[in-house]
Amino acid sequence: MKLRLHFVVDPLGWLCVSMVFGIWLYNSVFVPTLVLLPHYNEGHISWALVICYYLASALCILALLRASTADPGRLPPDPHIPFSERADWELCNKCNLMRPKRSHHCSRCGHCVRRMDHHCPWINNCVGEDNHWLFLQLCFYTQVLSLFTLVMDFCQYYYFQPLTVLDQDAFTTQHELALLRVSALMGLVMFGGMGSLFYTQMAGIISDTTTIEKMSRTLDEIHVTKRSWQWALSEVFGTRWKLLWLIPLRSRHPLQAAHSFRNEV
Ligand SMILES: [Zn+2]
Ligand SMILES: [Zn+2]
Repeated sequence: MKLRLHFVVDPLGWLCVSMVFGIWLYNSVFVPTLVLLPHYNEGHISWALVICYYLASALCILALLRASTADPGRLPPDPHIPFSERADWELCNKCNLMRPKRSHHCSRCGHCVRRMDHHCPWINNCVGEDNHWLFLQLCFYTQVLSLFTLVMDFCQYYYFQPLTVLDQDAFTTQHELALLRVSALMGLVMFGGMGSLFYTQMAGIISDTTTIEKMSRTLDEIHVTKRSWQWALSEVFGTRWKLLWLIPLRSRHPLQAAHSFRNEV
């Protein structure tokens, strides 16, 4: 697997990524410490539940790391433009470089990105043709982890049997209620936010329209393709194997290699 790392120098973006990382770290530490591991030790829950939580947590952080460090589809300074595709290229008046249509110049990153969807401060990176699949995975796994967290917080009070072995002097025991309330609040915010984002992203992918195109007034000029969700997602994820859509640690190979310089991310 060939990984091309890409870092955007933007202190505000670093702050946003740190907040997302902080939310992930908080729940990945406190939900197992307060709920899962004590109940597993007392035989109230199966080891499979603990493993599933850690797996969801690991997939979530992997998707975040990959989405924020993957090249979104940056154009090389001297692209080789096949003769048959010349009509589909245009000059960017900001960086003065040739780019295929539907590319966009990102002012935060300072370069053009192929089929750019939007610049996301929460991953401090553009979402473009080459990392859109990782962004979708991040939305999906964040929803899974948030929902899992909410269910565990709820079960701690309303379903699981009371714990018999508790260290009354421990910080986590003394502040359990406050820690779980913060966890539930984070879970609600992340589940609601990521749920709506995931839905709009999927609608855009199926209608072959980027967020930038939706927001601009040139939507009438864009050729909107009607296509099946399987084909649309296969193109975004670079494979027709649906199981691979869920794996963040792999390379993406474009299904339709229209441009000879397309990256593998
Ligand atoms: Zn540009
Ligand atoms: Zn950008």
